[in-house]
Amino acid sequence: MTRYVCPRAALCALVLLACTTAKTASMQRETQRSSERHRQETLLAKWEGRWGGVPPFGRFKVAEIKPAMEQAMADNLADIDRIAASTDSPTFDNTIAAMERAGSELDRVSAVYGVYTSTMNDDEMQAIQADLEPKLAAMNDRIVQNAKLYQRIASVYERRDALGLTGEQQRLLWVDYTGFVRQGAKLDEVQKEKLSALNQQLATLSTKFNQNILAEEGAQMVLLEGEQDLAGLSPALSEQAAAAAASRGKPGQWAVLNTRSSVDPFLTFSTRRDLREKVWRMFIMRGDNGDAHDNNALIAQILLLRAQKAKLLGYSTWAHWKLEDQMAKTPERALALMEAVWKPAVARAHEEVADMQAIADKEGANLRIEPWDYRLYAEKVRRAKYELDESELKPYLQLEKLREGMFWVAGELFGLKFVSVNDGSVPVYHPDVRVWEVRDAAGNHVGLWYFDPYARPGKNSGAWMNEYRRQSRIDGDVPVIVSNNSNFLKGKPGEPVLISWDDATGMFHEFGHALHGLNSSVTYPSLSGTNVARDYVEFPSQLLEHWLYTRALLDKYAVHVRTGQPIPEALVKKIERSKTFNQGFATVEYLSAALIDMKLHLAGETPIDPRKFERETLAALGMPREIVMRHRTAQFQHVFSGDGYSAGYYSYLWADTLSADAWEAFGEASGPYDQKVAARLKETIFSKGNTADPADLYRSFRGRDPGIGALMRKRGFAAGAMGAAN
Ligand SMILES: [Zn+2]
Repeated sequence: MTRYVCPRAALCALVLLACTTAKTASMQRETQRSSERHRQETLLAKWEGRWGGVPPFGRFKVAEIKPAMEQAMADNLADIDRIAASTDSPTFDNTIAAMERAGSELDRVSAVYGVYTSTMNDDEMQAIQADLEPKLAAMNDRIVQNAKLYQRIASVYERRDALGLTGEQQRLLWVDYTGFVRQGAKLDEVQKEKLSALNQQLATLSTKFNQNILAEEGAQMVLLEGEQDLAGLSPALSEQAAAAAASRGKPGQWAVLNTRSSVDPFLTFSTRRDLREKVWRMFIMRGDNGDAHDNNALIAQILLLRAQKAKLLGYSTWAHWKLEDQMAKTPERALALMEAVWKPAVARAHEEVADMQAIADKEGANLRIEPWDYRLYAEKVRRAKYELDESELKPYLQLEKLREGMFWVAGELFGLKFVSVNDGSVPVYHPDVRVWEVRDAAGNHVGLWYFDPYARPGKNSGAWMNEYRRQSRIDGDVPVIVSNNSNFLKGKPGEPVLISWDDATGMFHEFGHALHGLNSSVTYPSLSGTNVARDYVEFPSQLLEHWLYTRALLDKYAVHVRTGQPIPEALVKKIERSKTFNQGFATVEYLSAALIDMKLHLAGETPIDPRKFERETLAALGMPREIVMRHRTAQFQHVFSGDGYSAGYYSYLWADTLSADAWEAFGEASGPYDQKVAARLKETIFSKGNTADPADLYRSFRGRDPGIGALMRKRGFAAGAMGAAN
């Protein structure tokens, strides 16, 4: 089960929750008392109801999730052990396909577990999660270290050309084989022990890294002492600052906490330059203050151990190991893309600074734009240049109307129809959650879409897509179940919820992930829907964002909350024009972090001083002095809180290159709703999951490899520097 967490402004982050494709565990099946077994039965049993069954929400207690997970993990391990212990000679069916069939209880229980840990995470659930996460990791280790299992997989893999496998079967075999080898299956016992020790050390260091950041974010703040310190802040922002201070035991005062959601609005609106600088310094120095929470020594150790691990596994660097099974395949190809975009982005950022400086000079501010001035003056430029006012736009952006608009787009592009099943026939885990049945053009059942739109305690922040059940047809048709989750503030009963343009874009983005799941048409569940490479998974979701900007959609669904009138042409033009606003800044702050990430992981076993490395690398790149990395090395949680995005922060740019280039295919035909291009998009991308190399899938859609010209145009960068036509 893979879950996608997508905080909008912060780009999209992907979190691997509980991987049920590699199933093994360190725990032994415990003898369960029959009464316990009975209590967990609802969670372990096949799902009841129409459409291959639906999750049994409302029919179990939270306390039952833990024993059910433990039982399901033990059952999964037993399944895997049976496959490994078979005395029949290894075949695709009795080994690779058998692994696909293993652990069906775990698939079901972990779907529920994923919903509760991400959206219903109260104290009871947090305790269950803390207990289960290490057990899930241990289960995974035990599967990939199962030597007998690996020998069977390797035996099938060695004979792959003689087995008459379909393309999808060959892909699945490759995914399983390389997955095992990449986790050390080929190593001898001494090397395996060394690998385990490295993994454990790395896990400990990453946890420490994260705790240091949490400690500084949790403890540090800038106190605002009186009205004069609130200059420039809206009443709403002042209220938030007051609430923040009260939450830290400073009632009657105001505070800017050391978190992005507190810092960014302050830097955008505060007219107190001295306080902006103070707040900015606090935020960018997290983990780098030379005190007990300083991360620099930890980072040096993590990098060294990662380099050793890569070497042990037979790769020249950690970056080479990480990139091998991605679409980019090599660090060199990822770097080439980043470096091609870097110079035009820097050039654009210099132009943005010039616009800001002009405004500052006109105002007689008598200052040179510094990093703590960037957001404030960018906002001034936005108002002056585009006259786009959020409050003017908001009455046209009704949550429920835009949801209908997403359904309409899915109908136009993929022939999908959404039918409400909110009649109580499908149970939900919270009264805010609603469910739709998805049908194809012929009226056949495709899957279910759950929608959980509102914020509440115990729910993760941001927005994401979750998959409750993967589409497959290994043993008959199994229809897909997906959900979209966000954190809108619930309005008064009967009052439409209005959202921002950014949030509307986020909704379309997450719906793109959902459509990637819903359109899936594959045989094997491991290759289904969004279970694809990290640098490819954001491509369908980023692509779908483009339809929000289409006139046909806006005319029908961006209608005024009171008058019902469609959004005026003049306002749409302003949105269009402001699309490329501040893209120099956004690209430079992101790309500088992505470049540092990749270069740190290409250094091999050379000892690194992170502070010096960052300073010297940025100087060599020509980093504009007015911009700071989105995540400085000492606080780069994507990269050091775990290894998920290490040597992988480039993925967002890689996927956006694909989405920009793919979007232009519609423009080259009859427009956003061109039926031929849409049909090809479904056939080659949205239905294919991971059944082929993503580069091949893309080529079959576009007839060629992606170029970066479209990305340059999308971000408003000069394409001349690029040379290439695409
Ligand atoms: Zn996403």
